[in-house]
Amino acid sequence: MEPTIALLGPPGSGKGTQAARLRDEAGFVTLSTGELLRQARAAGTELGGRVAGYMDAGDLVPDDVIVHVVCDAVGELAGRPVLLDGFPRTVGQADALGGVLGGQGRELRAAVLVDVPDDVVVERIMGRHQGRADDNPETVRERLRVYHHETEPLVAYYEERGLLRRVDGAQEPDAVAADIQAALE
Ligand code: ADP
Repeated sequence: MEPTIALLGPPGSGKGTQAARLRDEAGFVTLSTGELLRQARAAGTELGGRVAGYMDAGDLVPDDVIVHVVCDAVGELAGRPVLLDGFPRTVGQADALGGVLGGQGRELRAAVLVDVPDDVVVERIMGRHQGRADDNPETVRERLRVYHHETEPLVAYYEERGLLRRVDGAQEPDAVAADIQAALE
């Protein structure tokens, strides 16, 4: 069975950077929910219109909306190793993921936590100039609050299931990448 891996971590933890490396160096197809939603907005689709307000406020889009997006996207990736970047982000999404993957004959092999303290997150996001509309101080604070409240419970969730792999995300990107590779072996 082709592996399915999820990357967990706060905003600014470098998940996107690491996802791109796993794609280029380990052959994963990466499925970034934040990226999919930004594309939907740029393309002006109905989905894009529905999620814009949540994203601009730094809040999560509703579980049913994002689960649907992931379900469709994973369905197109049969037979390929998949890396989920930014999903699941709530316990409800994690519960739904089991069903989504099971329906495709897949199962989650590991959830990799890219662990970074809040002060490093704020420093990094304020220093990046990609012009993302949700990279402003209020929204970053809200995204961090949402992370601790909604997403951090997944650490215990996956720990209990023996799937959690913890990596120190405050290191240089090369060291983080090496630790992720080691964690997946
Ligand atoms: P970051 O990790 O820096 O917050 P992302 O690109 O992963 O950035 O996500 C950007 C925004 O997209 C989130 O703030 C949220 O509004 C929305 N989003 C992405 N993934 C999910 C998800 N799994 N569930 C709900 N909302 C999501």
